Amino acid sequence: MENREYELLSPEIMYESLEKSVLKLNPTADVGQIRAAYECAVKAHAGQKRKDGSDYVTHTIAAAQICVEMGLDEDSIIAALLHDVIEDTGVTHGDIAKQFGTTVADLVDGVTKLTRVQYTSKEDEQMENMRKMLMAMSRDIRVILIKIADRLHNMRTMEYQTPEKQRSKSLETMEIYAPIAHRLGMQRVKWELEDLSLLYLDPIGYKEITDALKAKTEILESFMSSVESAVSERMGEAGVNCTISGRIKHIYSIYRKMYAQKKEINEIFDLCAFRVIVDNIADCYNVLGHIHDMYKPIPGRFKDYISTPKPNMYQSIHTTVIGSEGIPFEVQIRTWDMHHTAEYGYAAHWKYKTGEQGIKVGDEEKFAWVRVLLESQQDSDAQDFFHDLKIDMFSDEVFVFTPRGDVINLPAGATPIDFAYGIHSAVGNRTIGAKVNGRIVPFSTVLQNGDIVEVLTSKSAPGPSRDWMKIAKSGQARSKIKQWFKKEKREDNIIHGKAAFESEMKRAGVPMSALSDEELLPGILKKLAVANLDDVYASIGYGGMTATRAVNRIKDEVLKSQKAPQKTTLERITERAEQRKNQASDKQAVHGVLVEGLDNCLIKFSRCCTPVPGDDIVGFITRGFGVSIHRTDCKNYLNNKDDPQDGGRWIDVSWTDSSSESYVTTIKITASERSGFVMDIATVLNSLSAKVLSLSARDLDGIKSTAIVTLEVKNISDLEAIIARLRTVSGVSEITRAGN
Ligand code: MN
Repeated sequence: MENREYELLSPEIMYESLEKSVLKLNPTADVGQIRAAYECAVKAHAGQKRKDGSDYVTHTIAAAQICVEMGLDEDSIIAALLHDVIEDTGVTHGDIAKQFGTTVADLVDGVTKLTRVQYTSKEDEQMENMRKMLMAMSRDIRVILIKIADRLHNMRTMEYQTPEKQRSKSLETMEIYAPIAHRLGMQRVKWELEDLSLLYLDPIGYKEITDALKAKTEILESFMSSVESAVSERMGEAGVNCTISGRIKHIYSIYRKMYAQKKEINEIFDLCAFRVIVDNIADCYNVLGHIHDMYKPIPGRFKDYISTPKPNMYQSIHTTVIGSEGIPFEVQIRTWDMHHTAEYGYAAHWKYKTGEQGIKVGDEEKFAWVRVLLESQQDSDAQDFFHDLKIDMFSDEVFVFTPRGDVINLPAGATPIDFAYGIHSAVGNRTIGAKVNGRIVPFSTVLQNGDIVEVLTSKSAPGPSRDWMKIAKSGQARSKIKQWFKKEKREDNIIHGKAAFESEMKRAGVPMSALSDEELLPGILKKLAVANLDDVYASIGYGGMTATRAVNRIKDEVLKSQKAPQKTTLERITERAEQRKNQASDKQAVHGVLVEGLDNCLIKFSRCCTPVPGDDIVGFITRGFGVSIHRTDCKNYLNNKDDPQDGGRWIDVSWTDSSSESYVTTIKITASERSGFVMDIATVLNSLSAKVLSLSARDLDGIKSTAIVTLEVKNISDLEAIIARLRTVSGVSEITRAGN
């Protein structure tokens, strides 16, 4: 687009050209304010020079020029002109607001904040967090668009920088800004950012490709013009109005292909791509038909992104065909409307569609285009993307840095306590103070995007305080704090818990004496799912269960026993025998299991190993509950089958094949300690429409977590498919079935 001669023009000449482009797009634009911004920038940056010797302000004019080309509104253009004044000169947010309004001041402020974010190359997950953080910080989409314009111009003029700076900026561009541009559908900007980055990241690889392309220029150009004229002629005959242009693919896309497919450039044939632009959608399909008639299409390469747009709103028909010389080439067919979106993204498209006003500034209207996207998308891929985008835009997350530059992702409203536990429970438990951006702050401080957070720890720290449970925003931090109290403070917890429990009993009118009634106690403990009363007290003490809840659970049981006279042992036995008989008579079929030599016996699937059809199984004749079915690899079976007393009660059983029931089974998932792991498991299960009966997760030691999932499946292959998918969840190290 631009070149160096343009760069070295004087600021005034560059500005004149900017003003001309603004007026060309919008003859009624208020260029007075734009000129005022230019003059303000000239004054503020006076005396500052760029590395190439030009006036610093030429950079901000060039960035503004890119914003015009992206189709951004006047506020964005003004903000682009001023984008470096807060960072580099004495001008403040207030100064800008006074002269240009708060919208412009906020935009400049937003760009300044993005500029201050420290970047270090990290693994992919960190990169994604980093991208999300930048998006989240750009509450107004225009902030990130101006930042991209700024970065694009800096990349275009990177040659005067030191090699270190060239490398680090290029890496950042490749890992952060090019993917964001892609996500926003700004294909043309993305390509340019990628090619410029590659030039500094792998100059030899870059040169290899450009040299090879140069050597082939003549061949490629004559090839492209022959295809262009053949297609134009054909469409002319068919009466279709179209514009066709060939281009050599962008360098980084060739580079990626060479490395992904381990090929030399000479082995890559489809170096050219053609674009046919027509007036309406019907003509897109029309052109496609003609092209498939003229050239042989390569099977599997046809993609219709018109009927199914890409998540970033990209629309076109893609096909790859083989030309007469045996050279394959790609053709993209689209309307002008689609073309505009593809070049500069949907943000620009919005302006294009709504005429001269551009993106509306009112809060209501600011994200109108995002809403339009959301509403117009139905397929699930796109849904995912927009879910992400929505999180990015209307963030319920906050992204902060460790002093080392790692990004930690926390729920919005998180405090330094969440941060500390987000790093490790051991860090959380030893925390004695916190710093945000270098200053000591109270634990209740709410963290902001981009904050650098540091926790002060001490080996002799007293451990978390009970107040932290209220300060912590994330469930993860709260459960780790609870756990600490559970482990470290059992004695204390029992005392606290017992007091709370007793007063709640009194309040509910439940006599404490019930707890010392030997007849009642086992039932009470069972209701509470604990082994003894101290466990209940401890659990109330550390906050695992509330006293009210505990009392509610046992209230009915105790009060009932007070009224009803005690049953005799004989009565109880008779009652149970009766119940059992009823169970046996209304049993359903035989649960799809055939028991050797026994017809119509009661079948029960063991809870220790939860077998499903397809598993090798064995039956155990229980005392009074029919046959219980185990897997042959269940440890209860393995340990018991040779037992002198019970060993003889194991009998052969087999699955009948006519079963259409579902079976309850339990699996255990072990994963490296990672936030969001349980969410991811739940998401996968949900996407498979698995019928989950329960999912509980536990942090083992701050290094590993486990999740126990009980679900219904039809058979073993059903289950294996689910397990295979769960193994792909990041961090998962082991999945075992219950009973092993
Ligand atoms: Mn800049």
